[in-house]
Amino acid sequence: MAATVNSLLNTSADDCKISLAFVTDISLLRQALAAAQERGEKTKAKHIAQRIKQLGGADLADLKPCPFCGGKHLYWDHMIVDNEELHFLVCKECGCEGPTSVLRQVAGLLWETRQPI
Ligand SMILES: [Zn+2]
Repeated sequence: MAATVNSLLNTSADDCKISLAFVTDISLLRQALAAAQERGEKTKAKHIAQRIKQLGGADLADLKPCPFCGGKHLYWDHMIVDNEELHFLVCKECGCEGPTSVLRQVAGLLWETRQPI
C-alpha cells in the first residue's frame, strides 16, 4: 500500500518513522510535513524533515537553476571514486553535471558558483 499524508500521520511517531523510509515522493513528504506542523506533531515533523533532507529535497528547492539551460529540475547523483562517494547535481533538462564533492552541501555550493561556459 502506498503511503499517504494521512497514513503517515495517523500512526505513532515510531511507525511514522519506519513508514517514511519507504517514501521517496518529496511532494508527498512536504505535504505531510506541513500537516504535521499544523497538528503540532513535532516529533513526526522532525522525522519527515529528516527524510526530506535525506532525499536531497531540502537543498534542491533552494538551488539556483542550471547555468546552461536555466532548467530548474535538478537531481542528485553520485559515483564512487577511490572508495569515496562523490555527490553531484545533474540538470534533468540538458543533462549537464555539476562539480563533485564528498559532501552534498559543498557540491551544492559549487553548483551555485558555477559559471556558464
Ligand atoms: Zn540544464
